[in-house]
Amino acid sequence: MEQVPISPAFVWRCEDCGIDNFEYCVPATEEMLKDIKEQEGFYEFESSPFDETTNWVTFPDIVICTKCHKQFETFEPDDDGDDDGIEEDSE
Ligand SMILES: [Zn+2]
Repeated sequence: MEQVPISPAFVWRCEDCGIDNFEYCVPATEEMLKDIKEQEGFYEFESSPFDETTNWVTFPDIVICTKCHKQFETFEPDDDGDDDGIEEDSE
């Protein structure tokens, strides 16, 4: 059997025609990394999970439906619950 490389992708559903579309990950920019670090509180970590060897990716800002060609801005849906994943360090 032939082999193909596989990569992570984002999926979104077109609100007009209802089909699922798949988007390639795009590399995160320096500005995005700064925002992510601030949002996630990674500055508080002694050893940052961010370094040059890590390839951080995000989703595209604008997506276009492959069927109806409608354009949408993207946003990250809130996941419910107040667990922000940040371990509080109680001293
Ligand atoms: Zn569509």
